Amino acid sequence: MQLFDVAIVGGGPAGSSCAAFCSMAGLQSLVIDREKFPREKVCGDCLNPSCWPVLERLGLVDKVRDLSHSKLCSVAFIAIDGREVIVDLPSGIDCEISVKRSLFDDLLLRRAGELGADVREQTTVTGLSRDDYWKIETASGETFHARILIGADGRNSTVAHLRNLLPRPARERVALQAHIPLPRDFGNRIVLQFLREGYSGQAPVNDTQLNLCLVGTPPTISRLRSWAERQFQLPGDQAWRTITPLTRSSVAPAHENLFFIGDAARVVEPFTGEGIYYALHSGELAANAATKILRGEQRSALRIFTREHSDMYRGRLWVNRLARAAVVRPQLGSFFVHTARLNPSILKLLTAKIVSPANRHSERNEA
Ligand SMILES: Cc1cc2nc3c(=O)[nH]c(=O)nc-3n(C[C@H](O)[C@H](O)[C@H](O)COP(=O)(O)OP(=O)(O)OC[C@H]3O[C@@H](n4cnc5c(N)ncnc54)[C@H](O)[C@@H]3O)c2cc1C
Repeated sequence: MQLFDVAIVGGGPAGSSCAAFCSMAGLQSLVIDREKFPREKVCGDCLNPSCWPVLERLGLVDKVRDLSHSKLCSVAFIAIDGREVIVDLPSGIDCEISVKRSLFDDLLLRRAGELGADVREQTTVTGLSRDDYWKIETASGETFHARILIGADGRNSTVAHLRNLLPRPARERVALQAHIPLPRDFGNRIVLQFLREGYSGQAPVNDTQLNLCLVGTPPTISRLRSWAERQFQLPGDQAWRTITPLTRSSVAPAHENLFFIGDAARVVEPFTGEGIYYALHSGELAANAATKILRGEQRSALRIFTREHSDMYRGRLWVNRLARAAVVRPQLGSFFVHTARLNPSILKLLTAKIVSPANRHSERNEA
């Protein structure tokens, strides 16, 4: 029986980051993902500038910049009646970029493997039990054993579900996403557009493709899709990826020898485009916690991880809640846009709070 120090379910940004940092710390880690990479994922594809310091510690800054991407210079907020406000984004080397998740996530997962993590793709976790160690069962009948288990398997986390920790699904919204041909003269901007039925996010991901996201409710999503087909002259058989829920209650991130990271722990409103940062950084925090546990410091590891995980969101969730209030009632969002046309300072301040790395608290772990 091969016993891993850490088994990580999910090879998205949270799981790959965690595995890479575990390997850097000398731990034997296993990453299990049900998909074959590279794979796309429902996402706006925007990398918040806060990601750069974590990518630096992962040794990936240059490799991410080598991926096909777009530099994003501004955000255009568009009200239901078409009026808009444009807010500039920070410029320079550490600016916000957009990059397809197929490229970004594959790079991260390969980095974890390169550093020594055992990566198993096309392997779906279906069962969990715990004796002295965690026993992880998969759909193909394989079993793995590990001292520490990490749930990094996204908003509908199987690990949380199998441990009876996943909050009951509420009546929620649904998102559609596609990469479509980039309209001429779109520019290097993010468009966040309020629509009667919900909202749309748009961002170029390279010289030829636009990431298009639509967020609505189950009854309104087909009208949003029809709007997009007209707006962007899409064929009727345009392929869309879909995901739900858009938000849900959080799961406590730290348990004995078990951590949740990224979306598995907390799902934030995607409008502000920060989920990848939280995933990357919580992966790093969990790797630090696992290292401490294996040194025999279980209690302080849980305490410190819980504190640092909550610090990561401190002072930021209210912006996210405000964004959610605006997008759940698009009329309210449009009202914000109209108000910001008269006085843009509040919108500029909120945008700066989201995209300025300088506003992040110190991320370095205290030993
Ligand atoms: C519409 C929309 C737009 C968004 N736009 C942005 C944006 O522009 N910028 C941003 O930063 N964030 C954005 N987000 C949020 C972002 O996509 C997530 O926060 C991020 O993907 C979380 O990463 P993760 O690693 O926690 O989970 P995921 O990326 O979801 O990865 C989880 C992995 O777990 C695997 N998995 C799941 N179950 C199992 C199982 N049973 N066995 C094995 N493997 C399993 C999956 O295959 C997947 O690869 C957006 C989200 C939505 C819905």
